[in-house]
Amino acid sequence: MQKAIKKLVIAGGGTAGWMAAALLKKVFGDTLAIELVESEDIGIIGVGEATIPPIQIFNQYLGLDEKEFLRETHATIKLAIKFENWRVQGESYYHTFGAPGATLGVTNFQHYWLRAKELGLKESLWDFDLNYLCCEQGKFNKIKTPNPVYDMPYAYHFDSALYGKYLRKLAEQAGVTRTEGLIEQVKQDAETGFVKALQLKDGREITGDLFIDCTGLRGLLIRKTLGVTYEHWDHYLPANSALAVPTERFDTTLPYTRSIAHSAGWQWRIPLTHRNGNGIVYSSGYLNDDQAYQTLMNNLDSKALAEPKKISFETGRTTKQWHKNVVAIGLSSGFLEPLESTSIHLIQSGIVRLMKMFPNHGISEAQVRAYNAESKDEFETIRDFIILHYHVNERDDSDFWRDMRQMAIPHRLQEKLALFKETGAIFNDANDIFRDSSWLQVMLGQGLQPADYHPAVRAYSKEQLLEVMQNISTAKQQPLQKLTSHDEFLALYTKS
Ligand SMILES: Cc1cc2nc3c(=O)[nH]c(=O)nc-3n(C[C@H](O)[C@H](O)[C@H](O)COP(=O)(O)OP(=O)(O)OC[C@H]3O[C@@H](n4cnc5c(N)ncnc54)[C@H](O)[C@@H]3O)c2cc1C
Repeated sequence: MQKAIKKLVIAGGGTAGWMAAALLKKVFGDTLAIELVESEDIGIIGVGEATIPPIQIFNQYLGLDEKEFLRETHATIKLAIKFENWRVQGESYYHTFGAPGATLGVTNFQHYWLRAKELGLKESLWDFDLNYLCCEQGKFNKIKTPNPVYDMPYAYHFDSALYGKYLRKLAEQAGVTRTEGLIEQVKQDAETGFVKALQLKDGREITGDLFIDCTGLRGLLIRKTLGVTYEHWDHYLPANSALAVPTERFDTTLPYTRSIAHSAGWQWRIPLTHRNGNGIVYSSGYLNDDQAYQTLMNNLDSKALAEPKKISFETGRTTKQWHKNVVAIGLSSGFLEPLESTSIHLIQSGIVRLMKMFPNHGISEAQVRAYNAESKDEFETIRDFIILHYHVNERDDSDFWRDMRQMAIPHRLQEKLALFKETGAIFNDANDIFRDSSWLQVMLGQGLQPADYHPAVRAYSKEQLLEVMQNISTAKQQPLQKLTSHDEFLALYTKS
């Protein structure tokens, strides 16, 4: 299509639609007209509460005031996810956003830690991680140190529906047009198949040059209209259902998400300032809806504020995220269960990718291919990271966990696990949002023990190595005394 993009149409106004509208308006200003169409009759999916640290960059780019953002979205701080009963029942570990230890010389911390353990060190990997120490003590404050390895990276728990509303206000103020209406038909050019207009139930037509499909699990433009196929991943990740329920909040707000594994599936608990979010993710092949309901309700630790809402989903992705003049962002582009809180991040990275590859004098096929290749890689690396949690387990109490252990896994993941098991090494993949410290924590937490470590660690004598470990531990613990409780932080910070 050799035509400048003057008007962008966003179909759908959930978190994805409003994140896209707000950011692209901020970037392009009056040079690009943006119209967003949404239907209150259909509504939004209404779940999604946990995020990962890059959301801060997105908010900063939009110029959001963090205190106002926290108030508007009833947000709390997230330093980690605590995985309970995942390796075996009765045991837990954290995947924190911090970096355990500090890189010494040319090799990563785990090699030194593994050698030090061999020499008698008692501390776990997590004892060298400030995020973990704060989770255990319920503490938080914003800290910035000259060496980022001693910082405390964080994300948020928030109400994504409120986030969408907040961004809508900003986007409309900046000049985005919102149209209320039900899209009944998507009109295409007879020759090229490019989308020309969205026809609404009342007969109005919304025309545009480029369309973003943010219609959620429906995928109205990308799947239903353009017929882009869907790659299913239920042979790796069999969960296809969730029940979500809000409960009363506690007096003390944990600065982390809880992920509690059951005999089949797992349950989340996410603290917000006005309620807790809870839910169970499960596969109908192992747990029927009644069993899932009972498991969820029996394991709530405060009063339910509503009846659980059932959501069905297909794990996988559209084989193209961009096809013709339609870019799918949000749930329309694929679904990965919320185990590592990645959906909102995938929205963010889809928008940023589109911003970087935004067509100038028409859509180039090379641009579309580059966009799709990067999206594919990003989706697949997250998928692999999620599979790791299920596949490497030692639970023997149900068919579910035995099947997960025995299933075939993607080749790239096989190689990653083999490398770590044999050598203790982890290499980052370019488009993987989870860096080596994330993989390290989950691989160790799920019970994978490296047989070796890097030979460079032998350059340290036992005394030197134990002294270095002691110094890192002291440096990591130093900020703890000055930090307030998470609740004190929220109260003081959001009121100031
Ligand atoms: C159980 C569960 C838990 C989750 N937890 C997390 C989490 O912790 N962290 C995280 O990052 N993500 C999470 N997610 C994902 C998160 O909810 C979504 O990524 C996010 O809400 C974005 O959704 P969306 O905007 O793509 O779709 P939706 O919210 O479904 O929005 C779709 C929009 O399209 C509109 N629409 C659809 N059809 C039409 C039509 N014909 N005409 C007009 N308008 C139409 C709707 O009205 C709506 O405005 C979770 C998802 C599930 C299922």
